[in-house]
Amino acid sequence: MNKIYLDNAATTPLSEEVIDAMVETMKVNFGNPSSTHSFGQEAKIAIENVRRQIADYLHVTPAEIIFTSCGTESNNMIIKSCVEHLGVERIISSPMEHKCVSESILDMKNRKGVEVAYIRPNEKGDIDLAKLEELLKNSDKKTLVSLMHANNEIGNIVDIKKIAQICKENNALFHSDTVQTMAHMNLDLSDIPVDFASCSAHKFHGPKGIGFAFIRKATGLKGIITGGPQERSLRAGTENVAGIAGLGKALELSLNNMEAYTQHIQNIKQYAIERIAAEIPGVKFNGRSSEAENSLYTVVSLLLPYKNPLIGLQLDMKGIAVSQGSACSSGASKPSMVMMMILSEDEMDHCTPLRVSFSHMTTKNDIDSLVNALKEISKDFVIENTNVEHR
Ligand code: PLP
Repeated sequence: MNKIYLDNAATTPLSEEVIDAMVETMKVNFGNPSSTHSFGQEAKIAIENVRRQIADYLHVTPAEIIFTSCGTESNNMIIKSCVEHLGVERIISSPMEHKCVSESILDMKNRKGVEVAYIRPNEKGDIDLAKLEELLKNSDKKTLVSLMHANNEIGNIVDIKKIAQICKENNALFHSDTVQTMAHMNLDLSDIPVDFASCSAHKFHGPKGIGFAFIRKATGLKGIITGGPQERSLRAGTENVAGIAGLGKALELSLNNMEAYTQHIQNIKQYAIERIAAEIPGVKFNGRSSEAENSLYTVVSLLLPYKNPLIGLQLDMKGIAVSQGSACSSGASKPSMVMMMILSEDEMDHCTPLRVSFSHMTTKNDIDSLVNALKEISKDFVIENTNVEHR
């Protein structure tokens, strides 16, 4: 069976060049970067070259890039350290954040008594920035705002520059989970006054187990993993040298090909939207995912007009991998918080969300196969939602 991968927001396949760079690093640069002999120093140089490359991409200084094991660790470190070391007493966020952010915030609420305010999104998944300003003006408590750049389920993109400016004007720290946008678009952090951001290499054809946190120097954030002096004592532990080399190669490939990749994926996404809309009667698109603006070009989130909690499995049996941003109110899986926020009760009860996500490797044939499979599966269902009320 020809297998088709349409779950690139979950993870991406490694590029051959990335694998080669990692294997080469494992063979040649096996030294411990903390060792003072040449083996160690060569590994250290390999790390510092990638740090410089990331800093150039983001227009920041290399000292502001801290390698971590993943996006989850970066977000945990930033949020928890803001509370433990920078005296943050209040966090403003939204219910649409990735679990690694929302659970870190909850942990700080439960263990440290941090006050938490959530801005509820509208049915399109938009965050009301006037509400953010109002919340910021209503308290003197030292505040961290944590709002993701792009939502991993529905693809909505927020204006992080505007949010960062609002935070600055109100003396709040600003963290943005940029895991879905890093290396997918140009991010000039000399122009966007965000304090903290995060990255995970496996979202752009790099390896799993490596990411970084951007920590603006002026914030004085400290680490939460203690031990040796690695990463300027912000993240102790011997560095994942091969992972860092893989991240560097993946970033290089993304940046060198950004225009071509973006163009290709945008065309694929548009093709997918048009074909799905034409072939699946009653289908809707969640959030802003069918719009060219304010939406990740890598993600489209569908709402199928019937309830089918098994759709992910059925597509998988046909060789097609997608993600089931689950809104099911029965069965084993819990409804996703994002879907609960943007869908009406009717939609939750009678429809099925599905996330399809692309890479530069996705072809129109892949989309045709998905559409054919969806048509076949949809035949067995009565379309329930023609009159379903939208939130
Ligand atoms: N934040 C977002 C928006 C994500 O999509 C993900 C990955 O699914 C993460 C954070 C976590 O990244 P990692 O898998 O590197 O821990």
